[in-house]
Amino acid sequence: MGRHKLHKPRAPRGEGGQPTEWFGTAFHSVLGMLHLDVRRSGNGILITSSPAEIDGAPASWQLRLRNDDSSQGLTEMGAALKAGRGHVYSVSDEPGAKTVLAFLPSHRHEGVGTLARVRTSEGPDGDVVFERSAERPMGLWAEAGENLLRIVPQLGPDAPLADGVDDCMPCPGCYRPVYESSSSHTLIGAGPMPVIGLCRLCADGSTLRSLRQADVPVDPQQHAVLETVAAAMA
Ligand SMILES: [Zn+2]
Repeated sequence: MGRHKLHKPRAPRGEGGQPTEWFGTAFHSVLGMLHLDVRRSGNGILITSSPAEIDGAPASWQLRLRNDDSSQGLTEMGAALKAGRGHVYSVSDEPGAKTVLAFLPSHRHEGVGTLARVRTSEGPDGDVVFERSAERPMGLWAEAGENLLRIVPQLGPDAPLADGVDDCMPCPGCYRPVYESSSSHTLIGAGPMPVIGLCRLCADGSTLRSLRQADVPVDPQQHAVLETVAAAMA
């Protein structure tokens, strides 16, 4: 029997007692486990997609959406995600180049939407570069949009700008982005390998149970971590 310590902090809540963060996972038959985390950060919203693609390589993507127009841009973004409607959110406009955040429903796979930061340059050689992108089933984007709309009214206009980085670590069992408020701090000492920083769903065995029910590809290293946790908790 393994030794394990479980600490479950409660999700932070805003003034009206509404949660100010949300997390969802989709199990996709081709793309595997896909996570989205939406949370209040300073006066804006932080969307973390893990895994995501940055310059063509897998990574996790923290996307900070500042609220500098009395929530209008965020509300439009949330409504588009919820409705599964294509949407473009302007990020920056410089002479000759433009960076936008685009939500593209059923872009590369049917039923899968892409959120991408796209840079376009004008002129005859104008090219379109996908700097960062994340693909998720449309249902997961819809849930993220719904929760974004729930969090937006709780953004305080007086909250400090959050331009820095909110620290998060990928959970070793599923690559979910684990923030301090959502961490389980689970330590397992008896298994063949120490496991630190698991998310709550991996720590309580939910991830492994879901994976056994769904036929989705899993990274062998993640699978080894989940099996270690299961053995330690048995
Ligand atoms: Zn996990």
